[in-house]
Amino acid sequence: MSLWWDLVPRPKFSPDDIDQEWDVVIVGAGFSGLWTAHHLLISQPELKIAILDKGHAGSGASGRNGGWVSDLYPVSDEGLTKDFSATQIESLHHELRISIDEIGHFAQREKIECGFQKGGAIVVARNGGQLARLRNESSHGEVLLNELETREKISMSGTYGSVFNPDCAVVNPAALVIGLAKALENRGVSIFENHLATIASDRSVHVNGRLVKAGFVVRATEAYTERTRGQIPIYSLIVATEPLSDSLLTEIGLRDREAFAEASHLVTYAQRTADNRLVIGGRGAPYSWGSRRKDSFESRTKDHDRLRAMAKKWFPVLAHTKFTHSWGGAVAVTRDWSPYVRIENGYGEMGGYVGDGVTLSYLAAHSMADRILKKNSTRANLPYVQWKSRRWETEPFRWLSVNGAIQLTKIADREEDLTNRPSVIMRTLNPLLGR
Ligand SMILES: Cc1cc2nc3c(=O)[nH]c(=O)nc-3n(C[C@H](O)[C@H](O)[C@H](O)COP(=O)(O)OP(=O)(O)OC[C@H]3O[C@@H](n4cnc5c(N)ncnc54)[C@H](O)[C@@H]3O)c2cc1C
Repeated sequence: MSLWWDLVPRPKFSPDDIDQEWDVVIVGAGFSGLWTAHHLLISQPELKIAILDKGHAGSGASGRNGGWVSDLYPVSDEGLTKDFSATQIESLHHELRISIDEIGHFAQREKIECGFQKGGAIVVARNGGQLARLRNESSHGEVLLNELETREKISMSGTYGSVFNPDCAVVNPAALVIGLAKALENRGVSIFENHLATIASDRSVHVNGRLVKAGFVVRATEAYTERTRGQIPIYSLIVATEPLSDSLLTEIGLRDREAFAEASHLVTYAQRTADNRLVIGGRGAPYSWGSRRKDSFESRTKDHDRLRAMAKKWFPVLAHTKFTHSWGGAVAVTRDWSPYVRIENGYGEMGGYVGDGVTLSYLAAHSMADRILKKNSTRANLPYVQWKSRRWETEPFRWLSVNGAIQLTKIADREEDLTNRPSVIMRTLNPLLGR
């Protein structure tokens, strides 16, 4: 069970009758779908918008993620350079950075108590290999910190140094997604929960045996899309501690509630919450044959145990701390790791944010809204707009290659621990991953 939903009461939405013609129907009431409605209404407040979700608002990844509101983008600058100019790449990073502040201002204006705090993100090197990579890979705006400077921010065991990025906030994502949904309802948007929708054509969807028509249909179902070779679901799992005492917090640090992670190849992400818990997440769960998603994949004891052990290794002072929550969810990965916003005629689709979707969905939704409204803005022309990745391989090649890559990533981390040098395995694997 997710910590976030324990802290956030879920409201009841009271939508209009679904049997009418809508200007826009959006399938998926996560950040992508909700922010799309938000950006559309800023330009055209009179639009009649329906948002349908097969579960409840935020029941997908949006209400259960690690709460990093970051400027991260799943494709490296090196990868982007093959298709985009330096100006286009800089424009993408600029828009990501200002999106973080726009989300924060929105939460403040709407009085959404989601614990938004922009304290930056600190990625800690715990061996020489990780440190060398941080030195080589740190980018614009990031600051390298030596061991002592790192310890002033966070007291993680085995610290060699870190990189600090001021452009990151943390949030309780369920509180944000519910606050956003309520704000939209107040502006006239109809949110239909427990409504499974199937795209029927460019401008219509099937819902509960009925055909619902619209001027424009958007699919915003991301990793929770029914199986497709366009993207695969990869599970990310999370654990949360009980609220920590003042003395533990003094030892650990994170005074500005910085988001934090280890610079391992296997992705980790963590935050200190507004009520002083540590929420710690990571990838590494196996990919399931045929891109299956299943609730049981979100509670894999083995992976949760691994995260709890990692937390205690990072912070030995947590030896007697209780872990109160464990949960997980799927992120969507396209074959070249690129997100997408595509529209054609009266249909649009968006997603593929890997694990960086909190800020990116806000920006992608703005691109989607501008495209629907035929605005030729900067956001309507960012690199992911109208991007088409090649499809994933058929099974069994997909299962073999994805799980092989996950295992090799774990081995690469052990290699760096042992050798204190950047992993040779990863140097070979990265180009094969197609990032
Ligand atoms: C465990 C985890 C940790 C993460 N941590 C971070 C993080 O710290 N920072 C970050 O930036 N990103 C993170 N992410 C990624 C981020 O949460 C997602 O990229 C983002 O929330 C995607 O938002 P979305 O609205 O596109 O999709 P979702 O929030 O998944 O919404 C899709 C919605 O579509 C609905 N749906 C699907 N099919 C249908 C249908 N046929 N009919 C009706 N409704 C349907 C689903 O019920 C769901 O509510 C994490 C993800 C996970 C799973």
